[in-house]
Amino acid sequence: MLRHTGEFDRTFWQSGQNVLQVKTAGVILLSLFNYYTVIPSLIIALLLFSCCFGAADGACLFRRSSEQQGLSSNLPTCCLEKSEQTAHIHPNSKNAQGLVGLRNLGNTCFMNSILQCLSNTHDLRDYCLRNTHRTDLNCRANAALMEEFAKLTQTLWTSASNEAISPSDFKTQIQKYAPRFVGYNQQDAQEFLRFLLDGLHNEVNRVSIRPRVPVEDFDHLSDDEKAKRMWNKYLEREDSKVVDLFVGQLKSSLTCSECGFCSTVFDPFWDLSLPISKSSGDVSLIDCLRLFTKEDVLDGNEKPTCQRCKARRKCTKKFSIQKFPKVLVLHLKRFSEARIKTAKLCTFVSFPIKELDLREFASDNMNAIYNLYAVSNHTGTTLGGHYTAYCRNPSTGEWYTYNDSRVSPMSSSQVRSSDAYVLFYELTNSSRM
Ligand SMILES: [Zn+2]
Repeated sequence: MLRHTGEFDRTFWQSGQNVLQVKTAGVILLSLFNYYTVIPSLIIALLLFSCCFGAADGACLFRRSSEQQGLSSNLPTCCLEKSEQTAHIHPNSKNAQGLVGLRNLGNTCFMNSILQCLSNTHDLRDYCLRNTHRTDLNCRANAALMEEFAKLTQTLWTSASNEAISPSDFKTQIQKYAPRFVGYNQQDAQEFLRFLLDGLHNEVNRVSIRPRVPVEDFDHLSDDEKAKRMWNKYLEREDSKVVDLFVGQLKSSLTCSECGFCSTVFDPFWDLSLPISKSSGDVSLIDCLRLFTKEDVLDGNEKPTCQRCKARRKCTKKFSIQKFPKVLVLHLKRFSEARIKTAKLCTFVSFPIKELDLREFASDNMNAIYNLYAVSNHTGTTLGGHYTAYCRNPSTGEWYTYNDSRVSPMSSSQVRSSDAYVLFYELTNSSRM
């Protein structure tokens, strides 16, 4: 049941009409009782009218409807800013929003798992709930994917019942954007995430006509200055809410073993694919990050050309994080190859739920602390597997398991498992950017 946003306005008016109906009923009752005696009818009329005005003042039903309206109507942003506070008014409600499952349309658990992780991404959710994406659509002819994604997110967060919904309209749009998702084959959740974010970004890119960016030489600049210029150049072409949230900048340094010259390159990243370190003992997420940022020797056929020697030289290459994204997506490379899954590593990788400190991976020792809020899990083998999601509700802070149409509470101690595949971390306010 996918609702159109206009219906929320109607819900609001219907509540108003309920009050009117009660008033009308009061008048009819009043005239009936008038036959018998004036005094009891006056008492009843008084009771009914106080009921009506009481309802208009603060009855739960009425307030809930206006909240829903505030969440996703087409009101100007300023009005919505005010009602945003009411969006989180029921932290202890049993009927907390966002706890709606997604029906499996046939091997679509990979999609459902990622959709629930994104639905619990606080800023992206609010972007959809407030319809802010509409102002970013830039009069684009094709914005169907973003519209369906926003509609789905709105339904997950404003649905009156917790009954599972069908993501079929959304699926139609994602497979138009990325035909590889046509049909009902099991797919890789991380690949799906990349395609989805890319598709959403393209539709809400604030840059409608990408300018041709001339090749500039920044080599005379300091690394920090070069990084800033490269980032601004990226934003000249790619600038959206999706970029604001998910994109970071990676620094790769290449050092010549002959002359010691170090050249640096700065590239945007949407997620980091981390190799799982092979160790007989416990493997931690930090181990995987250390392996990812470990100095790599490029020799033989891989020898790059040193800019100073003007010849191919043996070099060392190293990654560090130049710019930390608000939302850090970490993909554990459990599959030897994403498309043709030949083997799966079921290694248990321990990861912190709170305070993942990434300072040691920063280019300039800046402070970056992240908290986990969602995990896409893969159980089973490369041949037959199933995806689920563990997400922390951004309104209540409680963790839930999303298994297609089923949503159930869980303890945060159960979040870590050897099924964890894609981790979603959000930057804390204590991080210095
Ligand atoms: Zn050199």
